[in-house]
Amino acid sequence: MAISIRKAKRINELPPYLFAEIDRRKRAALARGVDLIDLGVGDPDIPTPPKIVEKLMEGASKPVNHRYPNSAGLLEFRQAVADWYKRRFGVELDPVKEVLSLIGSKEGIANMSVAFVDPGDLVLVPNPCYPVYHIGASFCGGRNYFLPLTKENDFLPDLNAIPVELARQAKMLWINYPNNPTGAVAEKEFFAAVVEFAHRHNIIVCHDAAYTEMGFDGYRPMSFLEVDGAKEVGMEFHSLSKTFNMTGWRIGMAVGNHELVGALAQVKSNVDSGIFQAVQEAAIEALRLGDEIVEPSRKVFQERRDILVSGLRSAGIECEKPRATFYVWVSVPKGLTSAQFATRLLDEAGVVTTPGNGLGEAGEGYVRFTVCVDKKRFDPGVADVGAAESFVQLLDTLPVAGAERDRGEHYPLNH
Ligand SMILES: *Cc1c(COP(=O)(O)O)cnc(C)c1O
Repeated sequence: MAISIRKAKRINELPPYLFAEIDRRKRAALARGVDLIDLGVGDPDIPTPPKIVEKLMEGASKPVNHRYPNSAGLLEFRQAVADWYKRRFGVELDPVKEVLSLIGSKEGIANMSVAFVDPGDLVLVPNPCYPVYHIGASFCGGRNYFLPLTKENDFLPDLNAIPVELARQAKMLWINYPNNPTGAVAEKEFFAAVVEFAHRHNIIVCHDAAYTEMGFDGYRPMSFLEVDGAKEVGMEFHSLSKTFNMTGWRIGMAVGNHELVGALAQVKSNVDSGIFQAVQEAAIEALRLGDEIVEPSRKVFQERRDILVSGLRSAGIECEKPRATFYVWVSVPKGLTSAQFATRLLDEAGVVTTPGNGLGEAGEGYVRFTVCVDKKRFDPGVADVGAAESFVQLLDTLPVAGAERDRGEHYPLNH
């Protein structure tokens, strides 16, 4: 007989998995033989550029790379990150003290809480958001205070709405621009206000910059570190995943304030042994080539965005046209909840999306579409392509988006 197994509280206290129902319906549809159009996952379908793959193959055959890597990353990789930041953003970084390799930025984001969040510490987290920010804090016993991202505020957190006594207690603030899931972008003025806020209340700022290279129509999103004083208060998480279609490779970086980077390095040196050096060598090549290999996929995502947005809008569905990221944040038609809309898209059209409330209560009223699928699959212009046809038909039958939907309501974000 098995022993009685009791999971740690941190696991039992995880928020309910809101995608469980969508996952169940997705499996059921697949079992029925439905040709699903998966606009749910944020994972590029475009392969990694061949030049990067070649570097990996070269590196994989070198015995020196078969041994344990250094947890902080090859100095050559950290130097390549510093060179790229200089070239791309005009930001100076010391490769030894201000750059750290990550096993994908998700790993670093989770471990950031291990480095800085003690039980009871207050962490400011946008809502909706990439869930690792608040789950990382919860795992360490931290308390999350959620900052709603609303259309009225251009999906930027309203720092002035944070009660002063909470701002004083707060230890850390997470921000993410270009933003997943809303597709919103931030400009210098916002980042400067964040730096001022952080100085005033002594708060560590963590900026997740995973999508800076996915700007469209010539728009180049900035780094948080470009703002005066940013390095005094914070750091930035970046990744090769989205930039170079390398999500499976697991390589990213943390850059910025040397004390913050140093403490994260200390945690990591105790729990991981770094990234396969051949992957780091391939990443160096990717950073060196930069735009030359990013531009082709940027064009592909931009075209898909245009097709999806115009298709949705012509069906009367309200959505933001993102200036960056491969996410389209869509208002649900009047009278439906996020879950109901996502369910109808799945059951009636075979289109998988992410209900906004699954990424935070303030995401209710929205559904997130990604464009990580070939355009033929969802282009109303080529609706004779099987699956897309029912998508267009469904859109035609839906009630028109509720432009007048009640957006001012108070979301019970902080229980
Ligand atoms: C995809 C994504 C990341 C990157 O994750 P990796 O672990 O580097 O693959 C980080 N933040 C956000 C918001 C993302 O969407």
